[in-house]
Amino acid sequence: MTAHIIDGIALSKQLRADVAKRATALRARGVVPGLAVVLVGENPASQVYVRNKVKACEDSGLHSVLERYPATLSEAELLARVDALNRDPAIHGILVQLPLPAHIDAHKVIEAISPAKDVDGFHVASAGALMVGQPGFWPCTPYGCMKMLESINYDLKGKHAVVIGRSNIVGKPMALMLLQKNATVTICHSGTQNLKALTLQADVVVAAVGKRNVLTADMVKPGAVVIDVGMNRNDEGKLCGDVDFDGVKEVAGWITPVPGGVGPMTITMLLVNTLEAAERG
Ligand code: NAP
Repeated sequence: MTAHIIDGIALSKQLRADVAKRATALRARGVVPGLAVVLVGENPASQVYVRNKVKACEDSGLHSVLERYPATLSEAELLARVDALNRDPAIHGILVQLPLPAHIDAHKVIEAISPAKDVDGFHVASAGALMVGQPGFWPCTPYGCMKMLESINYDLKGKHAVVIGRSNIVGKPMALMLLQKNATVTICHSGTQNLKALTLQADVVVAAVGKRNVLTADMVKPGAVVIDVGMNRNDEGKLCGDVDFDGVKEVAGWITPVPGGVGPMTITMLLVNTLEAAERG
C-alpha cells in the first residue's frame, strides 16, 4: 500500500487564492490588510523565513512592512516598536520573528503584542482562547495541520490522535485543536516511555520533534494519517522531516511530505490570520 500524499503546496495555493479574493473585497471597503514583521539580528534562517513571509503577503495582496534591527537593539527599544505597531491603524497583524537575541525576553515581547494583532497566536491570551474554545488566533503551524486534515475530509471524532512533541507553538496547541474536534489525544515528549506502543494505536500521528526518523514504518498503524511537522537536514544536507517518509508511506493511508507539506501551510495560515485580523477590524 502506498499512502496518499497531502500536498501542502497545492492546498496552500487554494487557500491563498481565497485570501487574495477576500483581501480584494477588503480593499474595496478601503481596508488594506497589513502585516508588520519585526526581525532583530542576523540569524540566517530567520532572514529566510521573514523574506518568505513578506513575499507571501505581496503575492496575496496584503500590505507588509519589514522592520529590521541590529542584534544590539535593546529590549526597551523593541517593546517601544511593538507598542507603536499596536497603535498603527495600517497594521492588523504583528509578527516578531523568533528567536530573539539572548538579552531580550521573548515572552515579554510577545505579551506586549496586542492580542487583536497576535497573528502568530503565541500570546497567552491566544493560547487561553484556544484552551477554552473562544475565538482567537491559532498558531499557524498546527492550524495548517488542521487544514490539511480538513482537506481530506477526515472526521476526527472518536479517533485516537498521537502528537509527538509538546512545544507551546506546535505540540500543545495541536493537541488542543485535535481535542476540539473530538479526537482522543495522547501527547508524547522526550520522557515518554515506549512511544511505539502509543503510535501503533494512533489513527492520526503528528510528529513535531525536530529529529530525523522519530517515526518509522514499524511504529505506524496501517492506514493512519501521518503529519510531519519536523524540519531537519539529512546527511546530504537536504531538508527532511521527523518521519521516515519512504518507509512510512508504505504503511500509512495519508502522509505529508517534507518539503512541500506543513511548511508552506504555516505561512499560508499566517496570511489567513492577518486577513481575519483586518476583517475583524
Ligand atoms: P521544540 O520546542 O524543540 O519541541 C520539541 C518537542 O519534541 C519537545 O516537546 C520534546 O520533548 C519532544 N521530543 C524530543 N525528543 C523526543 C523523542 N525522542 N521522542 C518524543 N518526543 C521528543 O520544537 P518545536 O518548535 O515544537 O518544533 C518541532 C519541529 O518542527 C522542529 O523540527 C521545527 O523546526 C519544526 N517546525 C516546523 C514548522 C513548519 O512550518 N514546518 C514550524 C514550526 C516548527 P520535551 O518537551 O520533553 O523536551
